[in-house]
Amino acid sequence: MKAIAFRGVGDVRVETVPDPKIVAPTDVVLRITTSAVCGSDLHQYHGRGGALVQPGAVMGHEFMGVVEEAGPEVRKVRPGDRVLAPFSVSCGRCEWCQRKLPTQCTTTERAVFGGRWGHVWPGGQAERIRVPFADHMTEPVPAGMSDEDALFLGDILSTGFFCAENGGIRPGDAVAVFGAGPVGLLALQSAQLFGPARVFAVDRVDYRLALAAEFGAEPVHLDRGDPAEQLRRLTGGRGPDVVLECVGHETPFTQAIQAVRAGGTVSSVGVYVEPSLGFPAREAFFKDLSLRMGICNARNYMAPLLPLVQGGKLRPARIITHTMPLGEAPKGYAIFDKKEDRAIKVLLRPT
Ligand SMILES: [Zn+2]
Ligand SMILES: [Zn+2]
Repeated sequence: MKAIAFRGVGDVRVETVPDPKIVAPTDVVLRITTSAVCGSDLHQYHGRGGALVQPGAVMGHEFMGVVEEAGPEVRKVRPGDRVLAPFSVSCGRCEWCQRKLPTQCTTTERAVFGGRWGHVWPGGQAERIRVPFADHMTEPVPAGMSDEDALFLGDILSTGFFCAENGGIRPGDAVAVFGAGPVGLLALQSAQLFGPARVFAVDRVDYRLALAAEFGAEPVHLDRGDPAEQLRRLTGGRGPDVVLECVGHETPFTQAIQAVRAGGTVSSVGVYVEPSLGFPAREAFFKDLSLRMGICNARNYMAPLLPLVQGGKLRPARIITHTMPLGEAPKGYAIFDKKEDRAIKVLLRPT
């Protein structure tokens, strides 16, 4: 089959790799209908984070498709069913899965499709994929729901919602979202469900801030000075009640702590590539702030968020700017990485 293989820093290629097969009786093989390039694929692409996959590894952890083959012990889905899967691979049975922390699954050694967190599992930027523990891992997609609406439940929509939920937003709050990339934009959409009075989006890319404004945010442009100062000015000197950090670097993390009001909450879902950060602990301490951070256990969110997408309360497909054939993935990575051609979210379609 055709797949997107990692070949080195800044180098992903279209290659022919062996077709995936059923290995365990609980596996399914999906024929992928849509996949996407994620911001965390770019960490791999740039060799950031010190944990590269081996050359030749199939990339991608956002995918969905149709069950082509199911192992004899699979009960939940049948060949022909359209399904989603989360970005991380989990068993559903170990202590961590039972604690609803499937990203910590010890059975799979914290595997992620197409990437490094723990173990590496062949990814979804391909024509087919093997999904293990299918009764636990797959979520059927309702008839009539488009791939564009369903796909992001497996990663970035769930992550954005998790970020907003961890913020503990209360009706009437002022909320600031750092980063107007795909996750930030979906955190912003999710934040609106909790009834904030005002939402601010912090970024330096004009076309991304314009889309954030469409989702009801007031833009805070990084080129116009320190965002913490701008946010304090915009909130009568006090700072936002909740800051959602969706970038994953030391500077926005620090600025989030500086911006939030006393007693407020900083919720962070940016994937940090640095092993440690300079943390303004003294300021955080004297502000009595709450800090939540972590990798989203997307498996827990796929089913609960599905009706919110079906009902139009969440509109994840609005962030899609490009849909390309799988064979053009190297170009998709490049424009997403360089923010060319007003790219926000790139989908890939195996033909
Ligand atoms: Zn991702
Ligand atoms: Zn497990």
